[in-house]
Amino acid sequence: MFKVLDKVARTKPFSPSKISVINSCPLRYLLETEGYPSVSPPSSIYALTGTAIHKIIEDNLSNPSISGADIKKQFLGAIDRLALNNKRAPLICWVYEKFGLGGTLTSEKVISSVQQIKRLLDKYGKDKSLERSDTKLPSQKYEFSSLGSEKWFEVTKLELAGKIDLSYLDDEGVIHVIDFKSGKVIDEEGLPKEEYLLQIGVYGLMVEDSTSYSNLLLELIGSHTSWSGLLDEPLRGRVVDLITHAKNILPLGKEIDAYEISMTGEHCLSCRSRFACGKYVNALKDRAYGEESTICSPSDVIGVVKKTSTRGDLIDLIVSPIGGITCSIMGLPQILYPEFKEGDLIAGYFLGILDIEIRCNFPANFYVIRDEAPRKSSFESMVALVDARSK
Ligand code: SF4
Repeated sequence: MFKVLDKVARTKPFSPSKISVINSCPLRYLLETEGYPSVSPPSSIYALTGTAIHKIIEDNLSNPSISGADIKKQFLGAIDRLALNNKRAPLICWVYEKFGLGGTLTSEKVISSVQQIKRLLDKYGKDKSLERSDTKLPSQKYEFSSLGSEKWFEVTKLELAGKIDLSYLDDEGVIHVIDFKSGKVIDEEGLPKEEYLLQIGVYGLMVEDSTSYSNLLLELIGSHTSWSGLLDEPLRGRVVDLITHAKNILPLGKEIDAYEISMTGEHCLSCRSRFACGKYVNALKDRAYGEESTICSPSDVIGVVKKTSTRGDLIDLIVSPIGGITCSIMGLPQILYPEFKEGDLIAGYFLGILDIEIRCNFPANFYVIRDEAPRKSSFESMVALVDARSK
C-alpha cells in the first residue's frame, strides 16, 4: 500500500550525491536518503548498469590491462548477480528470469558499457593512491592515507559523509577527486550538470578537510563526456552556501512536518519518491477530477479498479480515475502483485504509456511489463492500493 509520510527528520550526515536536491525540495532529499521502508522505488536498469560498471572498475584498478573479453565476462556476471534475487528490482528480476539478458539490455548497451570500463581503466588503472611515495611532498604533514578507490570520507563539522569513487595524489602533487557517472555529465550548453558540479564540489571540500591539502583537481567522468576543474572561489562559495542552507532547513535530528517542507514544481516530474509525498498525491487526485496540473507526471494515475483479467502470468486492470474516464494498466506479473478487486482504490507510478501520441492527455493506456517487447517494460513502475486516509 502507498502511504504518504507526515513527519520526517534527518538522522544522518548529508549525502554529497543528493545534497543539491535540497535546493528544489527538502522533502525529496529526505525521502531519497533516509531509507524509509515504505519509500523505496524499484531500481532502474540504468542504476543496475551503473552499479555493475562501478564495481568492475573498482575491482580492476590494479589490473588495468584486463582484456575487453574478460571485462565483458565480469560485466555480464555482475548484471546476472544484480538482476537475480534483487528485492530492489523485482520487475527486472522477473523479466531477466523469463527472457534472459536480452529481455533487459541491448547488446549495444553491453558493448558501450564494456568500452566505458576499458577507457576508464586505461586512464585511471593502477590504484594511483599507492604512487604517492614518488612525490617530493612532505606527506607526513598531510593525511594522504585517506585517498584511494571507493574511500569513505566524513567531515563532522560540515555534517557530510559519503564515498568518493576515486581520489589520488599524482606525481605533480595534485589530488584528483573523481566521480564516475554512467550517463552524460555535460548539459546542452556545454557546462557540467548543476547537481554533478555541486556534488564534486562537496567532495572537494571533504577531501581538502580530510587531507589538509588544497591543490585539488575535480573530475566528472561520464560515459561519453567528462569535465575537470578546480575548487575555485565561486564553486567553493556555492558549495558552502548550499551546506549552510541545508543545515538550516534540515537540522539534524529535528522532526519536521513533511507537508511544510515539500516544494512542488516541474521537478516533481522526475521525483522518484513522489508516491510518498502528500502534496503530490493530492495533486494527482485533483488531476483525476479534471484539474489542470503542471506537476503530475503523465506516467502516474490514481483510480478505482473496475475489472481485472489475466493473460498467462500477467494481470490486466481496467481502472476508472476518480471522476475521470476509464483506462487500462496492462501486464502486472501475478507473482508480484496482490489480487486487486473491483472497487479498490489504487495508484500507479512510473508506468509505461502505450498511447505515445496522447502522452500529455488523459485517459491513456498504461503498461508495466511488455511481454511482446520485454526490454521496453517499465521496470521502475509501481502499482498498489492507496491509503484512503492520505487526503
Ligand atoms: S513530489 Fe515534488 S514536492 Fe513531493 S517530494 Fe517530490 S519533489 Fe518534493
